[in-house]
Amino acid sequence: MAGIFGRIKRQADAPEAEEEAPAVAAPIAASDLARRVELLDSLEETGVGWFWASDAEGRMIYCSPAAIAPFEITPDELAARRITEIFEEERKEEGKGEDTGRPLKFLLAARNSLAPTAVRVKLGKGDTWWEIAGKPRFGRDGAFAGYRGTARDITGTHEERRKQERASQYDSLTGLANRYRMSRMLDQTLKAFAHAKRSCALMMLDLDRFKQVNDTLGHPAGDELLKQVAARIRRLLGERVEIGRLGGDEFQIILPDVDDRGELGEMAQQLIQIASQPYSINGSRAVIGVSVGIAVAPYDGIEPEELTKAADLALYAAKGGGRGQHRFYSRELRDQASFRHQIEQDLRDAIAGDQLRMHYQPIVNARTHEVACMEALMRWEHPQRGMISPADFIPVAEEVGLIREMGTWALNQVCAEAAGWPDTVKAAINVSAVQFAADDFVDVVRKALKRSGIDPARVELEITESVFMGDVERSARTFAALKKLGVRLALDDFGTGYSSLSYLRDAPFDKIKIDQSFVRGCAGEDSNNLAIVAAVVSLAGALGMETVAEGVESKDELAAVTRQGASHLQGVIFSRAVPGEEMLRRFEEGDLVFAPRGPERYRAERRTEFRRIGLIHGDHRYNVFLRNLSRTGAKIEGLLGVEVGTEVVLDLGGGQLAVAAVRRSDGAVQGVEFESPLISDGADGLCTRHRVSPYQIELAGKPLAALGDDPYAALMTMQNRAPKAFMEVQLD
Ligand code: C2E
Ligand code: CA
Ligand code: CA
Repeated sequence: MAGIFGRIKRQADAPEAEEEAPAVAAPIAASDLARRVELLDSLEETGVGWFWASDAEGRMIYCSPAAIAPFEITPDELAARRITEIFEEERKEEGKGEDTGRPLKFLLAARNSLAPTAVRVKLGKGDTWWEIAGKPRFGRDGAFAGYRGTARDITGTHEERRKQERASQYDSLTGLANRYRMSRMLDQTLKAFAHAKRSCALMMLDLDRFKQVNDTLGHPAGDELLKQVAARIRRLLGERVEIGRLGGDEFQIILPDVDDRGELGEMAQQLIQIASQPYSINGSRAVIGVSVGIAVAPYDGIEPEELTKAADLALYAAKGGGRGQHRFYSRELRDQASFRHQIEQDLRDAIAGDQLRMHYQPIVNARTHEVACMEALMRWEHPQRGMISPADFIPVAEEVGLIREMGTWALNQVCAEAAGWPDTVKAAINVSAVQFAADDFVDVVRKALKRSGIDPARVELEITESVFMGDVERSARTFAALKKLGVRLALDDFGTGYSSLSYLRDAPFDKIKIDQSFVRGCAGEDSNNLAIVAAVVSLAGALGMETVAEGVESKDELAAVTRQGASHLQGVIFSRAVPGEEMLRRFEEGDLVFAPRGPERYRAERRTEFRRIGLIHGDHRYNVFLRNLSRTGAKIEGLLGVEVGTEVVLDLGGGQLAVAAVRRSDGAVQGVEFESPLISDGADGLCTRHRVSPYQIELAGKPLAALGDDPYAALMTMQNRAPKAFMEVQLD
C-alpha cells in the first residue's frame, strides 16, 4: 500500500528505476518529483502528517494508508463515503468553550477552507479523534474539484483533556456544573424519579447572537459575558435547581418535580427576559438573547438521552421560530424533524427523477396591471408526499449542498421557457446566497443565457441580503460580472434581513422587492408598515430603482401600496404561481393584463381550528371537531343532545386533557369553558398545563414509556358499561 504518492513515484521513477538513491543526501530540488514524493511518503508513514482528498461530490478519494490502516477499510470502501459520513465534529460544548463557528457540513457545502478542526472518525469501533484541515481546489475552468487536506491523530491529548474536565465537575469560567456533572445528575435523577414516580423538567438554553459579541468584542469579552449570564440565571433560579454550562454558549437546567407547563413557561419567559437585558462588558454594551427548549420526564422521555433529545429538538424549534422564544417539546416537533430528514434523503431523487417544476407568478405594472415580469418559483412534486413547499426544501438543499445543482437547473429551465414569452415580459429567478457565492455562478448564468438565446436584459436575478454576509469584495466582483452579462438584479425580501442601506448604495440593483410582511395589513389605521413601504419607495425612486410590493392579497392593500407609489405589484390578488403552459396560453391570446381579484379587506387569520379532537364523557370518548380555541374555552361541533352544564373532558391530543363545562349548546355546536385556562406553547399555539402521566398509564398495566400517539386510549378500559349519552353526527 503505497498510496497516491507511491503511484506517482513509480511513474516518475520509471525511466531510471534501477538507480539507487544517493548515499549523501543532497538538497531536494523542487523539480525533483521522485524525491519529493518519497519525502511525502515517509511523512505519511511516520504519521507526522497525513493527507486526504475528496472529489467534487464530497467523496473521500484518498486518505493516507497509514491513517486508515487501523480501520480495516479499503480505499474503494472509503471512496464510497462522503467526508461528512466519515468525520463528525466535536460537539462545540466539549471544546475549549469557544464557539467553533459554522458546522462542517455547511463549510463543505459552501466550499470554504477548513481551519484545523477536531473531528471524531466514524470508521472504527473505538473513539478516534483527528484534527483535520483542508482547502477547496478548483480546476482551470473554475469548477470545484474537491478538497485537499491534512490530518493528524489527536486521540491521546483529546481524551486527556476530557478526563481533566470530568475530574473537575465544574466549569472553571462560570462556576456552574460542567457537562459531565450535568449528564451524571440527569442520569441519577431520572433513574431515581422513575422509581418514585416523580417528574423532572429539563431546559436547554442557547444564547442568541453570542457569536457576534465574540467576533466584535473579542473572546475575553465573550467569556465575561458568559460569566454574567451565568450569574443572572443563578440569581433567578437560586440553589434549588441544578444549572450547568455544557460548553460554548449552551446552558442546561434540571428542574426536579416540575411538570406544570404553565410554571415552566413562565420560568422560561423570565430567563429570556433577564438574559436579554443589556450587559456592560469592560465599558462596552452588549445585547444578546436566549432561546429555551423544554422537555419533561416522564412525558417526553424516560431515559436521559430521550429527554435530552426532546429538549434539544424544542430548543432547535425555538431558535427557528425567531429566537428569544421558548418551546415545549411535542410530537409534532419530532414529526417535523423526521419530515426534514426525509426531505434530505429524497432531494437527490427529486433532481434525478424529474420531480422539480417551475411555476410562474406575474409581477404587474402598478398603473396598468399589465404583466412586466414573471417570478419563477420552484415546485417539488414528491411521489408520496405530494407538493412540498420551497420554503421547506430550499433551506435543506442549501445545507446539504444540492442547491447549486438545483439552481443551475432552474436557470436553464426558466431561460428556455421565457425565450418563448412576449418580449415585454421579463423572467425573475431566485438565486440562493450559496449559489451566488459559488465560483462558477457567473459562468452558469452566461451558459443559460447563451443556450436559450434569451435577451439578457429580460432576465432578472432575485437575491436576498444574505449574499452580503460573505466575502464583500468577491460579491462585488460577482455583481460587476453579472451586470456585464447584461442581466438585471433585484433585492428580494427587503426589510426582513439586515436592511442596511449601504447594500442599496453599493450594489447595482435595478429593483427592490418589499417583503410581504410590510404589505400585509398595511391598509390598517396608523399602520407602521405603510410608513415603511413609503420610505422604501421614495428611497428606491431616488436611487433610480423599481419597487415591487410583494404578496398583495386584498383590495385595501392594493389601494394602499398603489397610493404609496410602488412601481410594480405581485400577489395572489393578480395571480398565484401557475405552470408556464398556462401563462403561455394566456399570452398567446394577447391577454397581458391581470385584473385584481380578491377580498375587499385583509383578514387577520383568526385562530379557527378545524381539527378532530376527543370529548370524554362517562365511559366514552366521542369524536368532535374543534372549531375555535382560546385560553378559556372552545367551540366544538359534532354531538347532539349535550345539555348546558354538562361536565366534559376535551382530549386535545398528546395526552392533553382539559376539564370543561358546557356553557352553550345549539344543535350540534357547543361552547365549553375550561376549568383552568390553557397556556401558550411558546409559538402561536395553546397547550394544557398538565398531561396524562405515563405513570398512570403504567398503573393501568402498560410498560413505562414516554407519551405515545394516543395516551388517553391507553387508559380506557375495554368494557364500556353505561350507554352513550350523546349522539355523534357526521360532519363534512
Ligand atoms: P420569495 O422569493 O419571497 O417568493 C414569494 C413567495 O410568496 C412565493 O412562495 C409565492 O408563492 C408567495 N406569494 C406570492 N403572492 C402571495 C400572496 O399574495 N400571499 C401570500 N401569502 N404569499 C404569496 P413560494 O413559492 O412558496 O416560495 C417560497 C420561497 O422559496 C421563495 O420566497 C424563495 O425564497 C424560495 N424559492 C422558491 N423558488 C426558488 C428557486 O427556484 N430558487 C431559490 N433559490 N429559492 C426559491
Ligand atoms: Ca423572490
Ligand atoms: Ca420575496
